[in-house]
Amino acid sequence: MPERVHLTFFGTAAGYPTERRPHTTSIGVWRGEALYLFDTGASVASQFARRGIAPDALRAIFLTHLHADHVGGLAPLLQSIQLNGRTALLPLHVPDCSLDGLRDYLRLVYLFPIDDFELQLGPVAGGVCYEEEGMSVEAIVSRHLVAGEERRREIGARVETQAFSYRVQADEKTIYLSGDIAEPEEAAEHAMGADVAVVELAHFEPEGLGAALVGSDVKRLFVTHLLASFEPLEAEIPDRIMAAGYEGEVIVAQDGTEIEL
Ligand SMILES: [Zn+2]
Repeated sequence: MPERVHLTFFGTAAGYPTERRPHTTSIGVWRGEALYLFDTGASVASQFARRGIAPDALRAIFLTHLHADHVGGLAPLLQSIQLNGRTALLPLHVPDCSLDGLRDYLRLVYLFPIDDFELQLGPVAGGVCYEEEGMSVEAIVSRHLVAGEERRREIGARVETQAFSYRVQADEKTIYLSGDIAEPEEAAEHAMGADVAVVELAHFEPEGLGAALVGSDVKRLFVTHLLASFEPLEAEIPDRIMAAGYEGEVIVAQDGTEIEL
């Protein structure tokens, strides 16, 4: 018997919180009572508290990349579930090149194993990174951070960067989560045939996304990760995507949007 699958958009702002979107990027995929979290934007711990999400409901965390609007809420979330008595091991999937740095950061903010709570940090390098019965998560390399590489070299920033999208199989449902990408063609390629595609809209125009998704057979499209400058134009987004040729359903996600699949 397949489990009920639904999504919760804990945070939908890109870059920084706004009055309309006070929470940066964090998306939950629920399979029955189990929650899989994709990115941990600032204030995701507050969102858990407001919804009364039990500390043991969280089955695994997947980070797309380490920009602060995607991971700023990680340490507060871990601290809150730890203090609330989580006992189960928590897998935390992190882009390979950021794993050691993140481990150091968590140690810096005193998040080391206490009592029974333990993190299981796993490197994401592309390919299937998580599997259990009825559920699998595949990481897909994204080009989001490629353009900035030269600039980072110029200023001598000694940090490696990687970004990923994820494709989730939850029972019979296929969900594509773009994370941050460089161009809408990345979404079109990797969302092919998905029941739901969740695509960021901070790095290209709605028309580009609508045109790229023609022929992708994506049934429902959620756009998220909206820049503050886009908010006044928000009501036009579905029409602009569909005018470019996409024929599925388009929904602009808000902080708190819940959708049954
Ligand atoms: Zn980013």
